[in-house]
Amino acid sequence: MTANFSLAKQVALVTGASSGLGEAFAGFLADAGAQVVLGARRADRCAEAAAKIGENAASVMLDVTNSDSIEAGLDAAEAAFGTVDIVINNAGTVTNRALVDMPPEEWRQVIDTNLTGCFLVTQAVARRMIAAETGGRIVNVSSMLGETPAGQVHAYSASKAGINQLTRTSAMELARHNISVNALAPGYIQTDLNTNFLNGPAGERIIKRVPQRRFGQISDLEGLLLLLTSPAGGYMTGEIVTIDGGLSLSGM
Ligand code: NAD
Repeated sequence: MTANFSLAKQVALVTGASSGLGEAFAGFLADAGAQVVLGARRADRCAEAAAKIGENAASVMLDVTNSDSIEAGLDAAEAAFGTVDIVINNAGTVTNRALVDMPPEEWRQVIDTNLTGCFLVTQAVARRMIAAETGGRIVNVSSMLGETPAGQVHAYSASKAGINQLTRTSAMELARHNISVNALAPGYIQTDLNTNFLNGPAGERIIKRVPQRRFGQISDLEGLLLLLTSPAGGYMTGEIVTIDGGLSLSGM
């Protein structure tokens, strides 16, 4: 094998790393050799997750909706391990509500966290990567719902569609600085938070529409995450890669 999936000597920051996919992503990157910084608003949860990974992990307090918090988080990450080479824009939130019932504040909160948060972190890290002339790899966590419409997730779906296009526009602009920007777009992935929902009646209905007839496991995302962050995927940029067991194919 000539493909190089090693992340040795790389520093990676994962946002929203206090639970779920973000916590697991930090573990995958550390396993591949990176020094990882776990960022989230819940500093205690992040510190616990970092401690499980070991000495190659640190935690920082980071609220993706707040520029000052992002800058302070990046300063702390650099103090721990040096300039950040890899960023996983994973922080996200979702609400379920009919369009006619959604309060504007709820719409704004979802867009602020998912889309504006992704923009603010990307802007802040890109400025630092450009100044340090190190290049870098940015992976945005989108969703199948950024392309495929579904009920009751208006703000979430719009935020993820926005992330998809932000991925393409930022990839185009940052390529000259040797920074790649790609997105992974998962379907339904089982985590602690959604296991009850996916194992219930709603899950039974959804799974009949998944051609592979199963929900994704977090480990199903590991290979793509490593491709998008390692030298093996170095010529890819601006791509939105869906991992959903074929769910987005089953229109009818
Ligand atoms: P999760 O709720 O466990 O993770 C979201 C994380 O983001 C949490 O740690 C939360 O604290 C953090 N967060 C929220 N607002 C933040 C803010 N302002 N600043 C910093 N951190 C903040 O859910 P998850 O399923 O692990 O989701 C992770 C990402 O994956 C999200 O972007 C989500 O949209 C995406 N996703 C998940 C699935 C799935 O099936 N689990 C599918 C598609 C996409």
